Formats: sequence, structure tokens, C-alpha cells
Amino acid sequence: MDKTHTCGELRPEHVGQTVALAGWVHRRRDHGGVTFLDLRDRWGIAQVVANPSISEAAHRAAADVRAEWVVRVEGMVRRRPQGMENPSLATGDIEVEAAAFQVLNPARTPPFPIAEETEVEEGLRLKYRYLDLRRARLQRNLELRHRMVKFIRDYLDGRGFWEVETPILFKTTPEGARDYLVPSRVHPGHFYALPQSPQQLKQLLMVAGVERYFQIARCFRDEDLRGDRQPEFTQLDLEMSFVVREDVMALAEDLFTRLVESVVPGKKLLAKPWPRFQYVEVMDRFGIDKPDIRFGLELKDITDLAPGSGFKVFESAAASGGTVRGINAKGCAAFSRKEIDDLTALAGEFGARGLAYDAVVEGEGRSSFAKFLTPERRQAIRARLEAEPGDLLLFVADRAPVVFESLARLRNHLGERLGLRDPNTLAFCWVIDFPFVTWNEEEKRWDPSHHLFTSPMREDIPLLDSDPGRARGQQYDMVLNGVEAGGGSIRIHDRELQEKVFGLIGLQPEVARQRFGHMLEAFEYGTPPHGGIAPGIDRICRLFADEPDIREVIAFPKNQAARDVMSDAPSPVEPGQLEELHLKVLEPPQTRTISIANQG
Ligand code: ASP
Repeated sequence: MDKTHTCGELRPEHVGQTVALAGWVHRRRDHGGVTFLDLRDRWGIAQVVANPSISEAAHRAAADVRAEWVVRVEGMVRRRPQGMENPSLATGDIEVEAAAFQVLNPARTPPFPIAEETEVEEGLRLKYRYLDLRRARLQRNLELRHRMVKFIRDYLDGRGFWEVETPILFKTTPEGARDYLVPSRVHPGHFYALPQSPQQLKQLLMVAGVERYFQIARCFRDEDLRGDRQPEFTQLDLEMSFVVREDVMALAEDLFTRLVESVVPGKKLLAKPWPRFQYVEVMDRFGIDKPDIRFGLELKDITDLAPGSGFKVFESAAASGGTVRGINAKGCAAFSRKEIDDLTALAGEFGARGLAYDAVVEGEGRSSFAKFLTPERRQAIRARLEAEPGDLLLFVADRAPVVFESLARLRNHLGERLGLRDPNTLAFCWVIDFPFVTWNEEEKRWDPSHHLFTSPMREDIPLLDSDPGRARGQQYDMVLNGVEAGGGSIRIHDRELQEKVFGLIGLQPEVARQRFGHMLEAFEYGTPPHGGIAPGIDRICRLFADEPDIREVIAFPKNQAARDVMSDAPSPVEPGQLEELHLKVLEPPQTRTISIANQG
């Protein structure tokens, strides 16, 4: 080894020892003929002093170096002179006197400072990701992620799970996104699909008698990249045999509770055990199936107060089978016209055609609709929303999905703006009893709420024939701070029911057999009842790390246009390669000039 110690480990007890350190020059200062270097490696920073009275050569060599050069130093550890200690540094009591100094590799001036935590444009950070990763923030995130995964592996190993790798080149395992396809050279016109998750494979491992499986699994989904999405991402994928819903939920809850306590002990768990909500309840109270329960501002239903109110917007929504709901923005009565317009625009992004409001102040107060209402009706609505002076009541009247979505987004927005989303609180909760299928109006068919292999509730199986929309699935979602942190279910394990579900969602038997014949066949060879879950490592890690996006906890992420701007992937390939793969590209690829600025 080039080094006897790391840059972070030297303490007063090392004084008098001769050590060798190697790392990157963090900062350099020249002082009265003496050169001071902060030398950095993954473990910390140590001060090196190059004093010509100790070694002329070392002093000369050190005088030339610049930030980010890689150097090696040998010398004696000594106590810093009194008053020169640096209490903000773990090694701040000592320094190393350079007796020998070697430049291992010089460095060009980096495109952004490594030593300072300054804001840098993301496109530039991604292009020089290896430099960004050198900075303290991403080093912290890499370490945190490592600790998380290590804890998970140890925990599951201790409970009899085996980690099994499953193929990346496989057949479609749909999770509702588009597949990434890989053309086969040896089978012209045939393609592998990258797994959207190892769903089928882990179920087949249950058929194989593994009983308890997990994998830190890479998943690939070709979908538009909104926040918290990447073309490839990582799940803790797990599956268990001979279990019911409670077993899987209990295991996941215990695992993640202990993970928090061990890996981010500074964070507070909002509740132990985690609250559980039925889907219907969670929609009613929060308008969304991934509620942020760190704060209130819950939705209140006033549909029953709409008929005869005199306010057409409310009346017609109620009359046409829609709903009228509101939230109480506590203490926001003084919002300006412009602020309310902004909230209206936000609700509009989610389909709301308007936002009715009532500002509760002593006396009349401003309201967009009070003039239509009798004082009694206005009072009744205020009472439903538990309004107090100083509150701002916001209402949307429309079809239920629009009302839920727009109010849920408003609620999150207000929670953020009012400082109610404490990043140090981790609010896990479960959502259960989801509808088994949801109606896809565009395609005029039922879609699985979770995925094709989820089992309906046993007692709801007859509903699959009579009223599928009312059947509940054996699905459970794990939610953390308003983010869907993971989902799972108890699976179907007999062929007949699986075929029935394929039929229900409109898969022709022939197509089902072509795509999933191996699953159907496997179910005929002694399949144990089984279920599992797949929490998202990136999403949970980013919440643990207080980061705004999962890109910050992935070593080499793609940008929002799904490009790797460092290597410039995806990129055109040689015509010969296409030929080998029996492919022809219809539109020749555009030649792009790589501009950093627009890559963010
Ligand atoms: N495969 C599912 C997903 O990726 C998780 C599961 O059902 O275990 O969401």
C-alpha cells in the first residue's frame, strides 16, 4: 500500500510515528516559506506541512502542486502548535511533517470546485460525474447507500433469505411501462426484454422451493422521466412462500424500522407500528394513494352541502355524480389574489377547472362563492372544514379523480410551503385493500392495479365475473413521506385463476400462453402460496439523504432526457453492428453537438 494510514484517522496518539499518506490535494496555502496542504482521501482530511528545514526536496515538490493533484507524503506526525488546532476536523490536533513528497498524478483544473459545496449546474456535474462523486455530498450518499444495502443483506441473511441473481436478458416482465429490448444476433428478428422487475423470476424461485429469496435488483423501465424516475433503478426485491399478507408486511416493517434506527439514527420515525390505511380511506382523506402523513390539511367532503346551495359549480358537480371537496389551508387567509391565482393554476395542472375559496376572517372575509350562499350554508361548509379565523378554505368541484388529484397536489404544495414537511421525520405507512383492477377508459378494458400476478382477495373472486371494479386485490403499498416507497402482493398460485385474470384484463389466451406460458405451466408443478414486496432503494435512500432527486444517490445516473452525458449514451452504432443484428434504422440518427448547458 502507498499509505500506512488514511487521511482521516490520525490522532494525538500517533504523534511521533512516521506515516505515509496518499490522496488528493484539497487545499494548499503558503505561509512564511512553509507550504500547508490539506490532503484528502475517502476517510477525511489531514494537514501536511512542507517545511524546507525538514526537507528541501519535499518543500520544493509541494510548492508546485495544485488542487486535486494526487500525492504521497511520508513524514512524522506531530502535535499542532498551541492555538493552531482545528476543532472542526477530526484530525485537527495533529499534522504531518513532510520528509518525502511524491506527485503520483497531476490534475487539470477541475470544471467546478471539489473542496467546496457550491451549487454547480447539473449537466456539468453529470458530464464530470467522477469529479462530482469526489465531493463530500455524493461521497456521503454513496456511503449511506452502501450502509443501507449492507444492513438489508445482513438482516435478510439472518432470517433465512437467499440472495439469488436473476437474468437481465429475459422476456417481458411487465410492470406497466415500456420494455427495453435487446436484439438477438443469433436469432434474427428475436429480442430479449430487460426485466421491468424480476417479478416472474422470483415467483419461479418459489416454485423452485427457495422459500425465501431476495435480490438487490436492477429494474429497467422505458418511461418518461419525471422526478424520482430513472430508466434503470434498484429495488430490494423479495419473495416468501407459505405466507399471508400480514407476514410480508410485518417483515418489511421490521426491516425498515430497524434500518432507520441503525443507518439514519438522527431521523425520527413518525409512528411505530406504521399506520395502515385502506385505499378507500386514504383517497377520502388525502386524495392520493401515497399520502404524506407528516401533516394534516386533510380533504373534507361537502358534496352533500352542494345541492340547493345556489352556487352552480358545486351544484352541477354534485348533480352529475361528481364530488365537491375542500381543504383548510390553516392560517392562510391573508394570501393575496396573486397567491390564490397561483394555487388555482396549480390545481388546473391536474385538471381542475377552477378553485373556489373562502378566506375566514372576523366579519365577512373574501370568498369566490359566498355571495351565492345563504349565511347558514356558508357556515355549515366552514364547520365541515373546522374553519377558524385566519384559515383559507379551498374547494374543487368536479369528477372524483380530478378533485382528488388536484386537491392532493395542492395539499402537498401547501404542506411544503407552510413548512409542515419536516425532512427529519420519516413517516412510513401502509396502504392496503386496493381495487384489484381499474378501468382504462382509453383502451376500454380493465388494467391490474398492481400487476398481472397479484391475487384478488379470496372472498372477492366471485366479483371478477359479476363486478370486477369492486374486487379488492391482495396488494400492499409502502409509503414514505408522500412517496411510493414499495409495493407488493400475495400472488396467484394456480393456473386456473391466473388464466381467469389474464382473460379479465383482455389478454387473449393465445397471447397469454405465448408471453406467460412458462408461468402457467410452472403453476402446475406444485406451487406454494407466496407473496413478496419490492421497496425502492433509490427512493428510500434519497429520503434518508435529504436529497431532492434519486439522481443524487445513484453513482452514474441518466439525465432527464435519459442520456448518460458523461459517456454520451445512447449513441449511434457502426452499420456493421446493425447488420449483424439484422436491424435497419428507419431514421438515421441526428448528429448532435454536445452542449453541456441543455443536458441537465
Ligand atoms: N414486482 C413488483 C414491482 O416492481 C413488486 C412486487 O410485487 O413484489 O412493483
